[in-house]
Parts: sequence; structure tokens; C-alpha cells
Amino acid sequence: MIVIPPSYEILDALDRQSLAVRIEACGRLCYKSEDRITDESAPVFIRNILKHGHNSVAEMAVLTLEVIVEKESLAGQLFKALPRFLNIDVLEKNILLITASVRAFRELYLEHGNLKIVKAITAYLLQRHALFFEDIVPERGIVPQSGVMVKKLYLSEVENLPVHLRARHRYLAVKFIVNRAVTHEMVRHRPCSFLQESQRYCRYSADKFGNQVTFIKPLFYDEQSDEYALWCQAMEESEKTYLQLLETSTPQAARTVLPNSCKTELIVYANLIQWVHMFKLRVAKGADPSMREVMIPLLADFAEQFPEVFGSLVVEQD
Ligand SMILES: Cc1cc2nc3c(=O)[nH]c(=O)nc-3n(C[C@H](O)[C@H](O)[C@H](O)COP(=O)(O)OP(=O)(O)OC[C@H]3O[C@@H](n4cnc5c(N)ncnc54)[C@H](O)[C@@H]3O)c2cc1C
Repeated sequence: MIVIPPSYEILDALDRQSLAVRIEACGRLCYKSEDRITDESAPVFIRNILKHGHNSVAEMAVLTLEVIVEKESLAGQLFKALPRFLNIDVLEKNILLITASVRAFRELYLEHGNLKIVKAITAYLLQRHALFFEDIVPERGIVPQSGVMVKKLYLSEVENLPVHLRARHRYLAVKFIVNRAVTHEMVRHRPCSFLQESQRYCRYSADKFGNQVTFIKPLFYDEQSDEYALWCQAMEESEKTYLQLLETSTPQAARTVLPNSCKTELIVYANLIQWVHMFKLRVAKGADPSMREVMIPLLADFAEQFPEVFGSLVVEQD
């Protein structure tokens, strides 16, 4: 067995990649198949994912659009429809700022594709990012709509928005390597998007996993203590049973003996407002110490990058 400390990585380098590269890089974490990424692999991977309904992968990239409507009633259509998972701000009475994931824009079209403003947004996205919309729009495409002008904002433009808008429209992804109990707590934050290493698909007896199970070192026990020795014994036992079960059954069956300490990779993707909410709950004194172990240093990193949003959050000492 392998024992490692928990860690995290802010995936801001992905913010500078194309939507397809970004989505594939995140999606492959589930299967730990990052080694299969090539210059051409993204479209095939993404079409497959969408076909099979593994839809949360399409939440791993957002687009920010400025939508200018000639008549206010066109914007009103959108508010009446109450689309889900779209961040919409009214900049002026006929200018909307909309940020949403690829998935949310897909479902906006699927659920409200009869609205002129939605047709205009989808026609614009189809022209620039056909890969993500080709399977849901009519073969003849969508005619651009008069009276609605759509423009994509670059990341640098989102970063230059006033702070209250930047906090809602700037999204950041973080990859955590933590134990399964911590990932279970993180995925409770409903407005965020998540992708998690799958114990159904990953076979830890394979070479790429070192033919063994990896566990996260618990912060509760000193390495010299009797409790730590007992913990190691329990992990070894569970690994032995898991590997034995794999000889005759599938990973999804064998995983039923894996404990909370099992190493799990998880990507959390959210706007800065949701990160603030998570930090408030997860660095608080009453939070799980294993959660605080990663969230407190992460907050320091976020505060350095976005002092105006995270700088005032205080970490209570034990
Ligand atoms: C110290 C601590 C102990 C905990 N113990 C337990 C426990 O023993 N058992 C357990 O099951 N959970 C437990 N939790 C989880 C906790 O109850 C929340 O589910 C989790 O922290 C997610 O936070 P949240 O509900 O504020 O909001 P999120 O899911 O992060 O959502 C953000 C905000 O969106 C809004 N929102 C999202 N979805 C809804 C909705 N459906 N209805 C209304 N508003 C919504 C709310 O305003 C919410 O604040 C614990 C959490 C902490 C921090």
C-alpha cells in the first residue's frame, strides 16, 4: 500500500486552454486515463461523454457572454423561463451578462430553444464551439436572430469586471487529492460542479496504480503512535481483501471493502462566491480537521490571487 499526505492544485493553467482541452483534462480524472490525452483525443472523448450522459464533465468549462437585446422584452423572455444554473446580471436594461457551463447552455437550448434570445445565444455558440452543440441542434443549424447581439468575454475581460460581478462570473477549479470522507463532504456543496475519481472504473491492481491501493495519511495520529500502527494494519487488511476480490470480481464490486482513508482525486469547479461560502463553512473551527487541513492553505492561496474577494475571510485558530 502507498500512504500519501493530502494535497491540492489550483487548475488556473486550464483557464487558458480551449474548452475542449479543459473538459477532456478534467473528465479523464474520473477514469485516471490522463495518459491517453493526445493532440487529437478531445473531440472523440467529448462526443462519447455527451452520448453516454456523463453530463457533469460538460460542467467543467464556463463561457461568459454579453447579450445585447434591442427590446427589453427579449431579455424578459429569459427571466420568465427561469433557466437553471445560469448566472445572469443585468448590466443595463438591454445588456445582460451571462456565465454558464457548456452543460447549462446545452440544457438552456434543450429546454427553452423556442425563445428568440436562446436561439440567438445557441446560434452564436454553435458557430464557435460546434463540438458541444452539434448533437442537439437541427441538422440545418440555427439561423442567427435579429435584435439580439451576442459577444463572448475573454478571461481577461472577466477579471476586469467590477468586484461584485467578477465574484459571480469568475470560476476557478481546484483538484484535491484527499480521502474519501473529505470528498464526500465537498460534494455536498450543491451549486458547485464536481468530477471524482471513480472506484467503479479504476482497478488499483493495475500497473498504473502501482498494483496497490493508495491511502491518505490521517492527521489524527502521530506516525510513532500505537493508533497509527493500528490504522496501517487496518489499511493493509482492506487492501489485501480488495486485491483478492479483484481476482474474481469487478472493481465496482471489490471497492465495497475500501475504507474512508482511500485516496480520491476530486475537481471542484465554482465561482468565487461559492468558494467564499465553502471556505466559511470548511475552515471554521467546527469543520472536519481533515477538511481544514487542505482548505486553510487553499484559502491563503485564493486570498493572494483575489485579495478583494477572499482577503477578509478569517481562519479561527484551534
Ligand atoms: C460542521 C459541519 C457539520 C456537518 N454535519 C453534517 C451531518 O452530520 N450530516 C449531514 O448530512 N450533513 C452535514 N453537513 C453538511 C451541511 O449540512 C451542508 O449540506 C453542507 O455544508 C453544504 O452547505 P450548504 O447547505 O450551506 O450549501 P451549498 O449546497 O453549498 O449551497 C450554497 C447555498 O445555495 C443555497 N441552496 C442550495 N441548494 C439549496 C436547496 N435545495 N434549498 C435551499 N437552498 C439551497 C443555500 O443558500 C446554500 O447556502 C455538515 C457541514 C458542516 C460544515
